[in-house]
Amino acid sequence: MSKPSLSLNIALISGLAIFAPLQAMANTETSQAPIIIQGAMPVEAEHFAAKLENAKERQIGEWRFWQGTVEGYPVIVSETLKGMSNVAAATSIAAVEFKPKAIINQGTAGGHDPALHVYDIVVGKYSVNLGAFKTPHKLQGAGSNSVDWKPMDLMASKGSAGEDKNAHSIRQFAADAQLMKAAEQAMPAYTQGKVVEGVIGSADVWNSELDRIRFFHENFNTSVEEMETASAAQISSLFNIPFIGIRVLSNNITNNGKYDAQTGIACQDYVYDVLKAYIKQINAQK
Ligand code: SAH
Repeated sequence: MSKPSLSLNIALISGLAIFAPLQAMANTETSQAPIIIQGAMPVEAEHFAAKLENAKERQIGEWRFWQGTVEGYPVIVSETLKGMSNVAAATSIAAVEFKPKAIINQGTAGGHDPALHVYDIVVGKYSVNLGAFKTPHKLQGAGSNSVDWKPMDLMASKGSAGEDKNAHSIRQFAADAQLMKAAEQAMPAYTQGKVVEGVIGSADVWNSELDRIRFFHENFNTSVEEMETASAAQISSLFNIPFIGIRVLSNNITNNGKYDAQTGIACQDYVYDVLKAYIKQINAQK
C-alpha cells in the first residue's frame, strides 16, 4: 500500500515544481501590469508619488518614475515634464520599459468653457491636438488669423499632411471605456468643484486670446486646454494601451478664474480615487 502512494506523491511534487514558475510568470505578465499616472510638473506628480506604498524612485534621462503599489497593485507615477514632445517621450519610455495595463494623464488646465470654474475637473472623453493646423495661402502683407486655420491630422496618411484634402474635422483620441467608468464611479467623492465629461485640447501654446479660445470651444467642443493629454493619448493609442486624460481647471480666462496651483493637488486626490475604482474593477475580473 505504501509504495504506490509514495510514487504518486513524487509525481505530484515534480508536477508542482514544473508548473509553479509558469504560474508566477502568468501573474506578472497579465494581471500585474502596472498602471501609469502621469503628471507634467512636480506639483502635479509628487503629491501622488507620496501616496504610493513602498515607492522607489528611478530616473531615465530627465524623466523621473516612482514605482510602488496602491492597495497592493503596482502603480508607477511618471513626471512627464511639460509639453507635447516631453510627454510623448515619457509615454514611449513607459510603454517599452513597464508594459503598462493603462495610462492616466492628469494635471492642471485652462478653461475654454465659461460654465466651468477653477477646481472643476474635466474627465476627457476625448482629447484633440490644438497645435496641428494648415494655414490658408495668403500674400505678403495679408496678415495672419489663426481662426482661419484648418485642423491637420498627423495620423491620417503616409503622404504629406499639408496635402491631405479630407482633413477638415479634428481627430479625437477617445478615452478607454473602463477607465471612463472608474472616473464616473469616483465623481461623487470629489467635493472641491464639479466633475464633468468633456474634451481636452492640447498644444505647446498658452492661449489668452478670447476669440481663439471661443473658436476652439465652438468648433472642437474643447472644455479646457493644456499641453500634454492629446500627445500622450496619441502615443498610447499607437502602443494599444488603454488611456484617459483627467484635468482640473487651474485657471479660466473666459470667466476671470485666477490661476491657482493648489488645484493640481485636488486633481491628484480625485485621480487617486479613480485609480482605486479601476483597481477594484481589475480585481473583480480575476
Ligand atoms: N504658470 C506656469 C505654467 C506652466 S506651463 C508658468 O508660467 O511657468 C503650463 C503647464 O500647465 C502645462 O503643463 C499645461 O499642461 C498646464 N496648463 C495649465 N493651464 C494652462 C493653460 N491655460 N494653457 C496651457 N497649458 C496650461
